[in-house]
Amino acid sequence: MPRQVMPKQDPAERSRNFGEVALGFTPEQAAAEAARCLNCKKRFCVQGCPVEVDIPDFIQLLKAGDPAGAAAKIKEKNSLPAICGRVCPQESQCEKECILAKKGEPIAIGGLERFVADYAAEQAGGTVRPAKALPYRAAIIGAGPAGLTAAADLALQGFDVTIFESLHEAGGVLQYGIPQFRLPKEIVGREVEYIKQLGVKLETSVLVGQTVTVPELLEQGFQTIFIGTGAGLPYFLNVPGENLNGVYSANEFLTRVNLMKAYRFPEYDTPVRIGERVAVVGGGNVAMDAARTSLRLGAKAVYIVYRRSEEELPARYEEIENAKEEGIIFRLLTNPVRIIGDEQGVVQALECIRMELGEPDRSGRRRPVAVPGSEFQFPVDSVIVAIGQGPNPVLLRNTTGLQLNERGYIQADPETLATSIPGVFAGGDIVTGAATVIAAMGAGKKAARRMVEYCKQKYPNG
Ligand SMILES: Cc1cc2nc3c(=O)[nH]c(=O)nc-3n(C[C@H](O)[C@H](O)[C@H](O)COP(=O)(O)OP(=O)(O)OC[C@H]3O[C@@H](n4cnc5c(N)ncnc54)[C@H](O)[C@@H]3O)c2cc1C
Ligand code: SF4
Repeated sequence: MPRQVMPKQDPAERSRNFGEVALGFTPEQAAAEAARCLNCKKRFCVQGCPVEVDIPDFIQLLKAGDPAGAAAKIKEKNSLPAICGRVCPQESQCEKECILAKKGEPIAIGGLERFVADYAAEQAGGTVRPAKALPYRAAIIGAGPAGLTAAADLALQGFDVTIFESLHEAGGVLQYGIPQFRLPKEIVGREVEYIKQLGVKLETSVLVGQTVTVPELLEQGFQTIFIGTGAGLPYFLNVPGENLNGVYSANEFLTRVNLMKAYRFPEYDTPVRIGERVAVVGGGNVAMDAARTSLRLGAKAVYIVYRRSEEELPARYEEIENAKEEGIIFRLLTNPVRIIGDEQGVVQALECIRMELGEPDRSGRRRPVAVPGSEFQFPVDSVIVAIGQGPNPVLLRNTTGLQLNERGYIQADPETLATSIPGVFAGGDIVTGAATVIAAMGAGKKAARRMVEYCKQKYPNG
């Protein structure tokens, strides 16, 4: 039986609206896809999932006509299933390990997870009950996928958990980075609500390191702390013209569209002036999101400017395909050297140089090398820089004794995720650098286990 194909909005239509692109499986499709699972004895797919979702078990429950049971089964391990079902790079995780992948058509695990999570939400099913209350208090800093997962897992173990988040909404990149057409805000809100139902307290608009410090939280009686502050500080190109009007970091651009609800114009009149021609520099998921968002805000021509070739594009394959279908123009083996402005200091054109690929560099990818004398210009009204992010510095600067690595991220033990401060653990992008939602969640889960052990050992009487 062939793998089910998830229906999508038509490219011409969807490129002008912020509605979700992938529409989800119908119940018939979900049943047909579940029927393909071989329920293998050796569960390679589970080994491919950083949060260890019991994949064959939930699929068997779905097969047996019990989607609520399937949802509860997933939630034993994963508190954000509707999010993971939408944005996990399944092709390089669980689905890569599926036995059927050898024939090229693994089970659509992400699609089924999304179906089950959405079904359970509609039917108000799939809740997992926290264990008996324990006398421990945990503080979680940052409400991204790492922090939310650590919080949920600790609450399920019976901890009293409080999350401190600097923004006014929880979700981290899920809220302010990934656009509405890939991950609707309602879905993020719904799964955050579920975590609150587990008993987790959420304090927003608290910038730890400024409003309150890590030592103060320990003094306030939190026995253990998890830091999951992410890597939200954008990198820039360092080329002339980068301070012109019309140059954005992808981070600022997507945050404006997401948090100030520019995607609901004219209901919300958030001015994000991009003009008719937009160049997005970079080739990752962030670049694809910025490019496709620009199109939806009304740009006529949107370019991805990337210094390597198509083969090295770091974005998810599915998102590159979606971007192409929607009409994004790829200018590959091309690197910006200068942004040109008019007399008013507004972006007018981008000057680039052509590149070719040389020997592999430390990342294993072939190093892009400039072709001398190949500079060229093309007119653009705005430039969005999406070449990566670094660690958020506020907490790091103001936490004495917190050891950082040579790249400026938190130094955490790879096995225990313990930092240099006793009782303080860290995980997600703030330890690894920009990675994935599920890797951050895996770190949150791992840390939560160790935080439980730490508290039970250190405070045997509570
Ligand atoms: C545009 C974009 C698209 C992406 N697309 C995908 C995708 O499709 N699939 C995928 O798997 N990954 C994707 N990623 C990567 C993924 O989102 C991140 O790897 C993941 O969110 C990291 O989780 P985290 O919890 O470590 O940090 P974050 O999600 O960054 O969350 C950190 C949270 O901490 C808060 N915070 C920071 N400092 C403080 C402080 N001092 N006090 C209190 N709170 C603080 C922040 O406000 C934020 O809410 C994308 C990233 C971006 C930017
Ligand atoms: S959480 Fe992600 S990696 Fe794990 S089973 Fe679901 S889709 Fe796969």
